[in-house]
Amino acid sequence: MVCLANKPVIGITGAYVFHNKFMEGTYVHHDYQKVIAANGGIPIILPFLAENLVEEMIDQCDAILFSGGEDVDPKFYGQDPHQKLGETIPLRDKWEMSLLEKAMEKKKPILAICRGIQLLNAALGGSLIQDIPSNVKNSIQHSQTVNRSWDFHWVTIDEGSKLADILQETKLRVNSLHHQAIDRLAESLKVTAKSSDGIIEAVEHIYYDNFLVGIQWHPESMAATDEKMNKIFAEFIKSAPVR
Ligand code: MN
Repeated sequence: MVCLANKPVIGITGAYVFHNKFMEGTYVHHDYQKVIAANGGIPIILPFLAENLVEEMIDQCDAILFSGGEDVDPKFYGQDPHQKLGETIPLRDKWEMSLLEKAMEKKKPILAICRGIQLLNAALGGSLIQDIPSNVKNSIQHSQTVNRSWDFHWVTIDEGSKLADILQETKLRVNSLHHQAIDRLAESLKVTAKSSDGIIEAVEHIYYDNFLVGIQWHPESMAATDEKMNKIFAEFIKSAPVR
């Protein structure tokens, strides 16, 4: 690959969007693209339809960001669909699972946000809560009723975790735009942040030899006005090897 002024290329997995019959395709919220560019990376969008190009895509990227979007099909963790399950794109699930496997094989830095943390957990053998309001008694509101970029609930971060190290904080205000969450944790992950109702809000890999962090909230949408959130991306991008 051509060296692009030594800036690392950050592949962001795309969601599916249907606008109308003339406009249908791959979508990545511009906050992900902006925060990567603002921290010295080159954001590129990875389309899930190019199933046969997983390895080639990984080789073109210095780090991978698993982005938000649809619910993960519960068949991937051995369950039937709950009544409140949202839209699923099994093709994207399968493709992202292959992408994750290859990215880990090649020791690329990995940041998994929102659906990304859920996909990560399911791919590594865990399961998900399919609908927090119906499955978790006394849960707080995780589908925020204010602007996407505003903080909405508290999380407590584990001292000694990668996230605490980056944020220099153990109690933090975060945004929240999810109705699912991690249920049974994959064996290779550890929980690094929780909300007050016990919902898992962040994880990291136990032994992976590079950056591998999952975050349930959307730091990319807070980063423009919150230096701590921005630092997550700065550290993620810094973990990418210089070409
Ligand atoms: Mn939340």
